[in-house]
Amino acid sequence: MSDFRTTKPHMLRQSKVYESRTLMGGLSGFESPVGMDRRDRLQALKTGDIGFVHSWDINTSVDGPGTRMTVFMSGCPLRCQYCQNPDTWKMRDGQPVYLDAMVAKVERYKDLFQLTGGGITFSGGESMQQPKFVTRVFRAAKEMGVHTCLDTSGFLGENYSDDDIRDVDLCLLDVKSGDEETYRKVTGGSLQPTIDFGKRLSRLGTKIWVRFVLVPGLTDSEDNVENVASICQEFGDAVEHIDVLPFHQLGRPKWHELRIPYSLEDTKGPSAALKERVMGQFRNHGFVVY
Ligand code: SF4
Repeated sequence: MSDFRTTKPHMLRQSKVYESRTLMGGLSGFESPVGMDRRDRLQALKTGDIGFVHSWDINTSVDGPGTRMTVFMSGCPLRCQYCQNPDTWKMRDGQPVYLDAMVAKVERYKDLFQLTGGGITFSGGESMQQPKFVTRVFRAAKEMGVHTCLDTSGFLGENYSDDDIRDVDLCLLDVKSGDEETYRKVTGGSLQPTIDFGKRLSRLGTKIWVRFVLVPGLTDSEDNVENVASICQEFGDAVEHIDVLPFHQLGRPKWHELRIPYSLEDTKGPSAALKERVMGQFRNHGFVVY
């Protein structure tokens, strides 16, 4: 999902800026379950005793406020044309990690989170694809007084109960386009679940930072931006700001490596003028825009 990041730090993995903000990464420090057969793993996945994780890191000012532990879960039901992390699409490509090990890791950094106003962020892939694992870690984090953040498209919002959502302090919600036709073209999925999830977040008191990836020729039409702004208005005061994230090509090598046809091969990032026009459209609707 993002940075285009601010949305997804792993997207910036190759950038010097990102490296300077990251203290560690990969899957270091986690012992993977060994000796579990396929059936046991599936059962443990269902209960949330294990989760399939692509990687994790500690970063600052990337996935929410303060210094954060960001965990990138494996698996995603969407296929965004601009995805920077096609290597996270398949859950089975992730590493199984014990719930207890993840909770212990959060506890280890608890003082750092409190000192910096940070916390834990789940990202992906799609962070909502493994709801039991994520919601159980969030519950444990809340019991420790740690701030929680979910970075998601909202496409699988129905996987979360209202009680699960109450454990989420902040949602980085990707609104990838403003009408069903464009959304399907951009992601291969349907827009309505994102709208429904945003409204639930708002009703349940979870703060939202909206992310919109600006891709010339794909998401940049005035109508599309107006429609995204109208959707955000439906979320009311829950929306603290909107991030307009300029498309870039840092993820292109991964598409090549995985031999997946890449439709944005020749697409360039937006000009300063285009970005300003889009930010202006959101501001005209009364939003704080970065
Ligand atoms: S395909 Fe999935 S991981 Fe990639 S940008 Fe879209 S929602 Fe995010």
